[in-house]
Amino acid sequence: MSPSGFPLPPGAVIGIIGGGQLGRMAAMAAARLGYKCHIFSPEPDGPASQVSYLSTIADYTDHVALHRFAEAVDVITFEFENVPADGLELLTSMKPVRPGPEVLRLSQDRLLEKRFLNDAGIATAPWAEVRDASGLEAALLEFGYPAVLKTTRLGYDGKGQAILRAADDCFTAFARLQPKPIVLEAFVDFSCEISVIVARGADGAISPFDPVENRHKHHILDITLAPAPLPLELRAQATRIACQIAEKLQLIGLLAVEMFVDRDGGLLVNEIAPRPHNSGHWTLDACFASQFELHIRAVAGLPLPPAMRHSDAVMKNLVGPEDMATLPAILAKPGLIPHLYGKAEARPGRKMGHFTKLFPKGSLPGELGILDALSL
Ligand code: AMP
Repeated sequence: MSPSGFPLPPGAVIGIIGGGQLGRMAAMAAARLGYKCHIFSPEPDGPASQVSYLSTIADYTDHVALHRFAEAVDVITFEFENVPADGLELLTSMKPVRPGPEVLRLSQDRLLEKRFLNDAGIATAPWAEVRDASGLEAALLEFGYPAVLKTTRLGYDGKGQAILRAADDCFTAFARLQPKPIVLEAFVDFSCEISVIVARGADGAISPFDPVENRHKHHILDITLAPAPLPLELRAQATRIACQIAEKLQLIGLLAVEMFVDRDGGLLVNEIAPRPHNSGHWTLDACFASQFELHIRAVAGLPLPPAMRHSDAVMKNLVGPEDMATLPAILAKPGLIPHLYGKAEARPGRKMGHFTKLFPKGSLPGELGILDALSL
């Protein structure tokens, strides 16, 4: 072990902020590498705590609990990036936090994120910061309808956003969305949505997974196709963009970059998340090392293997009671690989698990084949 404590030796304790399914699958990957995980989460008996060595159940604003947690771990990472800034400062003053606090702060705020991306020469949908009704009017005049209003903080799975289709909608939506300022984006008439997940190690080594296509239902990820059925050149370009962002951030850890492919084949970055991502769950079954393993390896200072796919894959999320009702059929169908998150109650819109179907590399089927693979 180097004087800095990295790479972490087997038996070291990785602290994970957040106790959901991303933490659960990260903790399972960490256990395979001989590490113990200590979860910090407000939720008792959550998905990550169920499979981890220790848990601290406390609010993210509880500084006494954060202090004790930091004392008890060797490195800190997260599966939930919205830790309040002062808590983050406390953690950073005590133990290495990977990815670092600058990356977190950026991903917590859409405005900072968009400025960072555009300053780095990376294209996004046209956007404007909106502080009041006259600002909204001016921005709508520029972008036209439809347009998308988004909160700058705490938005995920379509929460904290509104599509504006006509003048009637806009001021009610603007009044509802909090906190201000918010962002107005031009609506992108995309041909598909893709994402690229990339790991970057402390030594600067970089391992991007293949770009995948993501299809949403009610703003929640429904299906991921790996690899994205797009021309190789476009996939290479998407990969270059994700690697460029990881480099620019000097990331240590994992980064998911969501992009729109517009009708002309152009790529616009929608959002970045510096953690494992729902659109990377297929890597658990279709890659030699999953997104969770690469995340843990980067955080622990271990060498990063190439993010190599051995199979093509379709991943289907299991959301809410409707999808959970299909579980017996999923379990009975040969070739479907189920992953359940240990959540007690299948509330509407809640991600309960997913399943993956593998195909030999290079033979991801077309639309009919995908429907057939997912039929139960
Ligand atoms: P977000 O919360 O930014 O990840 O957005 C959630 C989903 O809303 C995206 O995956 C898109 O399907 C849709 N969306 C977000 N922004 C736009 C936009 N500017 N134009 C069209 N669709 C959008």
